[in-house]
Amino acid sequence: MRRAAHLILRRSFIVILAAGLLMALAALNSGTFLVNAQTVDPRERATNERQPPAKVMDAIGLKAGMVVGEVGAGRGRYTIHLAVRVGPTGRVYANDINADALAVLRDRCLRDKLANVETILGRVDDPLFPKAALDMAFMILTYHHLAKPVDLLKNLIPSLKPGATVVVIDPDPIKDADRGGTESTSREKIEREAAAAGFEVAKVETFLPRDNLFVLKVKDQAGLRPGQATIWYLYHCGYAVKTKTKLLVFDYVEKMRRERDPALQPPAHPALANGWINPEEIKDLDVVVFVSHSHADHYDEIIRSWEKPVKNIHYVFGWDAGTGPHVYSLAAPRAEAKFDGLEIDTVNSHHSGVPESAFLVKVDGLTIYHNGDYVGRMADFSTAPSNVPADMQYLKTKLKTVDILFGAASVFEAFNQILENLKPHVLFPLHYGGQEEKYREFATALKKAGIDVPVFCPAKPGDRFEYRDGRIITGRQ
Ligand SMILES: [Zn+2]
Ligand SMILES: [Zn+2]
Repeated sequence: MRRAAHLILRRSFIVILAAGLLMALAALNSGTFLVNAQTVDPRERATNERQPPAKVMDAIGLKAGMVVGEVGAGRGRYTIHLAVRVGPTGRVYANDINADALAVLRDRCLRDKLANVETILGRVDDPLFPKAALDMAFMILTYHHLAKPVDLLKNLIPSLKPGATVVVIDPDPIKDADRGGTESTSREKIEREAAAAGFEVAKVETFLPRDNLFVLKVKDQAGLRPGQATIWYLYHCGYAVKTKTKLLVFDYVEKMRRERDPALQPPAHPALANGWINPEEIKDLDVVVFVSHSHADHYDEIIRSWEKPVKNIHYVFGWDAGTGPHVYSLAAPRAEAKFDGLEIDTVNSHHSGVPESAFLVKVDGLTIYHNGDYVGRMADFSTAPSNVPADMQYLKTKLKTVDILFGAASVFEAFNQILENLKPHVLFPLHYGGQEEKYREFATALKKAGIDVPVFCPAKPGDRFEYRDGRIITGRQ
């Protein structure tokens, strides 16, 4: 009898232990146990009742594995909920300009065993999130505190992955009028400031009793029209151009970039926004890769590795680089190709034993010229006769106007002739990877030489420029 009772007791103890373990596991899985246990501050509780985290996170589509940047995270009232929702495969970058609040937030995450939160002390105009890292930026009861909302939004853009959203939850001036209504954000204000920063308000949710929920998206992702383009400086002669239907990539190199400066390893999240091609980022685009010639500062075999992940990709080589299902080898003299709505014409050079082309590309209502190392001589750079005047006359029969010209900053005499003939709307210099300050010197020299063309000088890889109606509307000159 005593023995049986002992057994029963032991069995029920094991059952209780197992049930307890299961509950703990379930709690770990959903995280609710941990978070509810720690939201003890009565003011926090009251604010959470007004802005129920689960309801808000459902409305914005926050899921496990996502990377969120929270602007104005403070002591972490919402951060802990975001962290539990994105789970161990996701991440929350919790930004604030208040270091003391972030210290409290870090302690809280330690206590709650939330290892997926990283705090970032930001500036009033820049949250300083990592580049191209975020699926979503989030701010709650923060927007009306921002000293420089337009600058802050602008500086968020390089941190957003393509298609990422910015979620802003802030009191409505009318619904929250009994608290004075001043600590609020009107729909007009956010629409105006978002537009000034290059965003549009994609969605407004009004289900919260006192607050509105705004979802912002970067405007150009709404789609480019014919004649419009987004341009990224990649490095050296590398540029990417997004047009209505294509992504064009010119003379992209990684190896030479690493060798020249070991500090220029690919970042944690390589992306156009920081001047790297990440096949994952471009895999759904219609990609055309151009290579002017085989010198290591223009051609890197890494480009061939994109053939698998990128569903729709073509390669255009400026010499006989062989054949393949997606390959166009445009060897001299003056080759042409037409495919997929693109028209390509070349003129040619030959230096250091290597044949090469400059490309004239017509696509989506744009005419784009990439010069590579073209100087119009078919033998040595300095002694062979110049074909530049004849080549330019030839190209002029192929075009009405040149929208965007990518041109060598280093081959001056021939280059003046190219510019005088092609008269581009805008010019981007190239061939000074790692010495980008030289682009400014080049622009000044052109001006002194009396050549009047707007020159846009990238300061670093990833710099982005928006081309609309014959001019650049964002990006420094
Ligand atoms: Zn070369
Ligand atoms: Zn070169």
